[in-house]
Amino acid sequence: MLLHKISEVREQVKEWKRQGLTVGLVPTMGALHAGHLSLIKKAVEKCDRVVVSVFVNPIQFCPGEDLDKYPRTLEADTKLCNDNGVSIVFAPTPNEMYGDGQMRTNDTLTYVIPPFFYVNTLCGKSRVGHFDGVCTVVNKLFNIVQPDYAFFGQKDAQQLIIIKKMVQDLNIPVEIVPCPIVREESGLAMSSRNKYLSEEDKKEALVLSKILNNIKTCYKKGITNVEALKETAFQFLNSHHDLEYLEFHDADNLEEKQIADANTRVFIACKVAGVRLIDNILLGE
Ligand code: AMP
Repeated sequence: MLLHKISEVREQVKEWKRQGLTVGLVPTMGALHAGHLSLIKKAVEKCDRVVVSVFVNPIQFCPGEDLDKYPRTLEADTKLCNDNGVSIVFAPTPNEMYGDGQMRTNDTLTYVIPPFFYVNTLCGKSRVGHFDGVCTVVNKLFNIVQPDYAFFGQKDAQQLIIIKKMVQDLNIPVEIVPCPIVREESGLAMSSRNKYLSEEDKKEALVLSKILNNIKTCYKKGITNVEALKETAFQFLNSHHDLEYLEFHDADNLEEKQIADANTRVFIACKVAGVRLIDNILLGE
């Protein structure tokens, strides 16, 4: 069932709760692919009823980012959800979520602001305000759907850590379920933004997973010094790649590491053909 109105979703969820059914939420920005589908399948397995939100959230895009050209494929997304046991696809307009366009600045809208330590690193450093927008919309979705479980991908590992922190700090009654990264056979992490890449670009984009896999191999061989592990990346980089960061952080609390261990997550962001791609790997897995 495709719904656009907050009130319609609330009404349906209220009825489910009255019947004692558990509710799962999968928040997405649409242009669904196999990565999203893995979250949906897990949610359908675990919960009596599943809501997938499809909302390209304007307040998490920074000036100059791809808000206008972000892929929108609601018809196909709805079909995929219907075919896979989803009860509601919730696709609100920006107006439904925030009122008219004038209302979306932090002068006029109540924001949920995650802690500085968690956002002043990795993607938060270049995408200033991005995680404020993410936490605000996810908190709104939690209030609208009131799910028992919410499903998030490790593909956006910093986002997942920040959402978990928000849920803990604000005592939100939802269980966050992390889901592993889904990759193409080549190793490329699936992403809606891969739609911007040509086949040639996709080959160049393998640089992210190649760097991460090689670091993991080196770590397994006994190299734990982070500077030495970082050095191993350069052999893979060429003029097609614009590396933004390659960093080593604790997988739970995001503390930066000098010496890698099993709970270290390696994070990479790199532009390929002008498209900003991210990926990560847990060394101890
Ligand atoms: P997005 O539509 O990009 O906002 O992503 C919605 C959810 O799907 C987020 O929790 C993402 O982490 C998750 N996701 C996106 N790509 C993947 C992937 N390749 N593997 C696993 N989860 C993913």
